[in-house]
Amino acid sequence: MRLSEFIICDLEAILQEWECFAASLLEPDQMMDKRALRDHARKILEAVAADLTEPQTERAETAKSKGKNDLPTNNDAASISHGKERLALGFSLNATIAEYRALRASVIRRWQKSLLGDPVSDTEIGDVIRFNEAIDQSISHSATSYSFEKEQQARVFDSILSFSPDLTFTFTLDGRFAYVNKATTDLFAHPSDQLVGKRFNEIDLPNGIELQQHVDLVILTKKQCRGEMCYPSHSGHSEFYEYLFVPIIYQDGTVEAVIGTAHNITERKAKEDESWHKANHDQLTGLPNRRMFLERLEQDIKNSGQLGSSTALLFIDIDYFKEVNDRLGHDAGDLLLRFIADRLRSSIREADSVARLGGDEFCVILRDFINTTAVELVAENILTALASPFQVLNNFIHLSASVGIAFSPQDACTTEDLIRKADQAMYTAKSAGRNRYRCFYS
Ligand code: GH3
Ligand code: MG
Repeated sequence: MRLSEFIICDLEAILQEWECFAASLLEPDQMMDKRALRDHARKILEAVAADLTEPQTERAETAKSKGKNDLPTNNDAASISHGKERLALGFSLNATIAEYRALRASVIRRWQKSLLGDPVSDTEIGDVIRFNEAIDQSISHSATSYSFEKEQQARVFDSILSFSPDLTFTFTLDGRFAYVNKATTDLFAHPSDQLVGKRFNEIDLPNGIELQQHVDLVILTKKQCRGEMCYPSHSGHSEFYEYLFVPIIYQDGTVEAVIGTAHNITERKAKEDESWHKANHDQLTGLPNRRMFLERLEQDIKNSGQLGSSTALLFIDIDYFKEVNDRLGHDAGDLLLRFIADRLRSSIREADSVARLGGDEFCVILRDFINTTAVELVAENILTALASPFQVLNNFIHLSASVGIAFSPQDACTTEDLIRKADQAMYTAKSAGRNRYRCFYS
């Protein structure tokens, strides 16, 4: 029986034998049902058998023996689609080729058995040679289409990553760059060949050491890690990036590589900063507002509790401020409040803070002072600073303020209590004739 006939007659049995082998090519997580595998192998064999029945020209025979074929056959189309499909299913190139090898082995083994030791004719030997050439050619086509598809995929991914405004990079297991996309080379102003093989701490980055520590940690712990990095841009201002490093875990549970992406968040951060500033500052004077003041005071009281130091709170209320509004108008009053804020700001040390609580009320928090006399001196400086006349819209305004002082932990241990006692001391100063300070304990 001619080999082509044998293949068609024995097709189901050949496929049955081959099927057991083909199943071993699939990884446990690869989805391909038995029927799909079998149908594909059937298609290949039918194409090869159909090819064998075609008469072969001398030219085609010579070409095939050199591994070339200038005439397209049924078998070519099947093997080209085979390579592409196997890549899409996640097969390795070896597994893709092994399928053909196993088919060849099944066919030859079963055909040999069917001959029952009969001598093999020249025609039959010719069939085997043609069959082998057809399978070799199929392997070659399948492997070529597999590689072509894979290279094309790589080019597509590379183009996607090149156009991405996000930084994308991969790292080897010793934490060195293995791949960097265009956005990365543009930002770091180094070509890719100068970055590949380097570690973050080997390139001139403001937080290169910290970034490298994170990459090494991902390799060690197999856990992803995110963070923010800052990079001085070419125009001089800082650009902020949010980054994510993710381990690529191999089937056996080991880390194969680390991939990283970084997204520019400068604009988002600026908006966040702006809304944080708005929420925490007084719009008129730019000073910290009540909300921020309360947070700071609470923190300072806590710190002084832990360090055994004291916090002093100066509660300042401008004397007869209403009269300014009445005399010069609300806008002039607003302007005056801004000038007052400036003078208060310059009356204290950088470590201390001043806030506007609302209306004509301000508060100063003093930390790390030597003794109460030092605090009283600050109160006197504030009164002196406010005593110089203010020029508001061609008017010279003379002002004074009443200041109440309370200490934590001596007078109070909570923010509410400390504010209440400083406020009480301020009213004592008002009652005593204004333009003066009073301590709560006195
Ligand atoms: P005292 O000497 O007792 O402190 O009297 P005062 O006139 O300063 O009045 P008080 O401290 O009781 O009230 C503060 C006044 O400040 C009330 C209001 O007319 C004025 N004021 C409050 N907020 C603003 C503001 O944002 N802009 C302006 N221009 N005036 C304000
Ligand atoms: Mg007042």
